[in-house]
Amino acid sequence: MAVTRTFSIIKPDATRRNLTGAVTKMLEDAGLRVVASKRIHMTREQAEGFYAVHKERPFFGELCDFMTSGPVVVQVLEGEDAVKRNRDIMGATNPKDASEGTIRKTYAESIEANSVHGSDSDENAKIEIEYFFKPEEIVG
Ligand code: UDP
Repeated sequence: MAVTRTFSIIKPDATRRNLTGAVTKMLEDAGLRVVASKRIHMTREQAEGFYAVHKERPFFGELCDFMTSGPVVVQVLEGEDAVKRNRDIMGATNPKDASEGTIRKTYAESIEANSVHGSDSDENAKIEIEYFFKPEEIVG
């Protein structure tokens, strides 16, 4: 299995509850290595650009409100089959549907305030990493 990278966000509901370390530990315990990390407060423009694929969906406005409601931690994660590994430890979008032991089952508050984002493909991981990080900010 190839070592690849994915992009993660620890969302405002999790930073508000001081869960950055707890969430990161679950990512690390799942075999992912944090090779870049920074805490930022997303601008409206950044959030709308990041979620542009969802702009026709009914939850788009509220999602952008939520993602700009407090600090987030953006991270690049590295590991074997990183996209799938991260999606597996994140759990389903709606915490009600998420499996036991996943980040969302453990910490998410709702389908919107669901504690973490993770890229859904290698192609999107590359785009999302480049959206937030310069190459020199990633130290593998
Ligand atoms: N979301 C929401 N309402 C919905 C579906 C999604 O607020 O009905 C939010 C939620 O925060 C989710 C994000 O939009 O994480 C992106 O949705 P997607 O379907 O891509 O889910 P994910 O890949 O994050 O599991």
